[in-house]
Amino acid sequence: MENRNFIVQGDICWCKDPQTLETRAGAFLVCAGGKSAGVFSRLPEQYAAFPLLDYSGRLIIPGLVDLHIHAPQFAFRGLGMDLELLEWLETRAFPEEAKYRDLQYARRAYGLLVEHLKKGPNTRLVIFATVHTPATLLLMDLLEESGLVSLTGKVNMDRNSPDILREAGAAASLAETGEWLEACFSRNSGSGYKNTRPILTPRFIPSCSDELMRGLGDLRRKYRLPVQSHLSENKKEIEWVRKLCPESGGYGAAYDGFGLFGAAADAPSAAPVVMAHCVWSDEKEIALMAGQGVFAAHCPQSNTNLSSGIAPVRHFLEAGVPAGLGSDIAGGVHSSIFRAMVDAIQVSKLRRSLLGLDEKALSMEEVFYLGTAGGGAFFERCGMGRAGSFEPGCDFDALVIEDTDIAAPFGLSIRERLERTVYLSEERHITAKYVRGRKISR
Ligand SMILES: [Zn+2]
Repeated sequence: MENRNFIVQGDICWCKDPQTLETRAGAFLVCAGGKSAGVFSRLPEQYAAFPLLDYSGRLIIPGLVDLHIHAPQFAFRGLGMDLELLEWLETRAFPEEAKYRDLQYARRAYGLLVEHLKKGPNTRLVIFATVHTPATLLLMDLLEESGLVSLTGKVNMDRNSPDILREAGAAASLAETGEWLEACFSRNSGSGYKNTRPILTPRFIPSCSDELMRGLGDLRRKYRLPVQSHLSENKKEIEWVRKLCPESGGYGAAYDGFGLFGAAADAPSAAPVVMAHCVWSDEKEIALMAGQGVFAAHCPQSNTNLSSGIAPVRHFLEAGVPAGLGSDIAGGVHSSIFRAMVDAIQVSKLRRSLLGLDEKALSMEEVFYLGTAGGGAFFERCGMGRAGSFEPGCDFDALVIEDTDIAAPFGLSIRERLERTVYLSEERHITAKYVRGRKISR
């Protein structure tokens, strides 16, 4: 059993809330049993016997959280980036996802993905797999082995999808999902999975029949499972949903009607829901999300690549919608949530200038919060530990960053070093990566 009681010393930086960045030079961060016991300028006596890892002069920050990534799309990231969403799905995403019927192919492709993720800055992920149960379980096995913390979903889709991917009706899709869940539950019991859990994953309303959606709502209630899907990403898609669910009163409201949105009034402890994009969510939808605690996964690079638009993140923050960042591989090309932070600032400025809005662009503090504690809150709501911060009691997910070669001819504050790390760092700058107190890389 490895030792999960130790101390790291360095220049420590984390977010308390969206506006407050805490920085401590040459401070001590204590890991006790895989959790943060706090950050101290002078080490308390009670930890004197813990081994000290000296990272003096390096930045120590919380691990990053990716709230939205499609694992099977990693293989073709950077291709088809001149297309719009629905065309891109037809010509790129669906044909590639169909290949995961072949377990040998899945092993090769998912192996590459997990190796890549292990070395990068993200420590927690919420993941779409494909409709295929064996390949999804294989991905979950690889993730568990890697030490990363993740929620992964076998995708449901029984209509408006190519024959190579479409499941044979609602009953077949639900039966397959039941089998996949049984396999997950047995891996979650005893000495099985510690860091890997299932999440229900209807692809989006256009690809799931009403019967399938209602059945997934029943599974959610029965097993108290979290849910992920897509919401209000693209105008053509929203129009399509309006035709498919004419009575619903909106896209988010349609999920709600199937029991796949927020916590219902009679079940406030229901596991949470995360919706990717929410680019075109209007005030009514934003209020519904805020009222029911539905998370928004903001994926700025994907929204740009697929010309979907710019999500109203400032409104999410003001209305109290819980929010984080997503890479949306392969709508987004870069898996690093540092890149999503940069993109989030840039598109928020474009939104302000292009729409002539009197709306503040996102600050460095706000995007750092979204990419750490903001996304981390989803895992806490799922009972998988507080994450994305060094406040006492949070899981010890930490990155040690060697930033000395991002040089400047003048002195930099810790906040400035963090900002330059977000904009300029590469994989090689990560000199150690810890998840739940276990060193998983370097
Ligand atoms: Zn997506």
